[in-house]
Amino acid sequence: MGTKAQQTVCAKCKKTKAIVTCKGCSTDFCVDHSNEHHNELSEQLSKTENQFNQFKSEIEVQKAKPQIHELMKQIDQWEYESTKKIRQVADEVRHKLSSYINTFVSDQDIKLKQLSEKIIQYRKDNDFAEPDIQFFNEKLKRLKDTFNNPAMFNIEYDSVSFINKICLKMEGKICLILEFERLFSLHFYRMVKINCSIIHIALHHRTSYVKECCSQVP
Ligand SMILES: [Zn+2]
Ligand SMILES: [Zn+2]
Repeated sequence: MGTKAQQTVCAKCKKTKAIVTCKGCSTDFCVDHSNEHHNELSEQLSKTENQFNQFKSEIEVQKAKPQIHELMKQIDQWEYESTKKIRQVADEVRHKLSSYINTFVSDQDIKLKQLSEKIIQYRKDNDFAEPDIQFFNEKLKRLKDTFNNPAMFNIEYDSVSFINKICLKMEGKICLILEFERLFSLHFYRMVKINCSIIHIALHHRTSYVKECCSQVP
């Protein structure tokens, strides 16, 4: 009874002679079904190969035109927004300064005019002495000093940056997967040549390796 239970049979047709066990899925097959199984695996591999080739052409496109990468658009957008912000602030400060300059110059002009009128009046009346000349000289000096004072207006630099600097960060997870894909593609075709049944294991390991990479890296 016990030996009957342990007898290997083809999983497809229940034949018991010339049984071959697939190392990949540990399933027993007769010669015909073993061939059929290998054909199925071959088809499965072709599908995977096609996906690889499809992905390869995507990579080729990106390699030829790195500027079409999604992140490039993000950088362009950041550059555009930042320049816009700078121009906006410069315009605002320029506008404010020109309005201050106008007010200040007009004020100086009025003061000068008033003093000039006073001088004309003094001359008209022909009534002035040394203290008057000294008074006008002092007034003129003070006006000139104020007018030529470079510290009248200043540009102050805010310590808080209003544009956030960008930098490129690469996740460790991505590095691992890229490294794996590189190694995997190197071994992939070698394995195909050696034994079709190893593909089972390879495909299984590929999935679990990527899963492992993703769970290991925070
Ligand atoms: Zn198998
Ligand atoms: Zn069979």
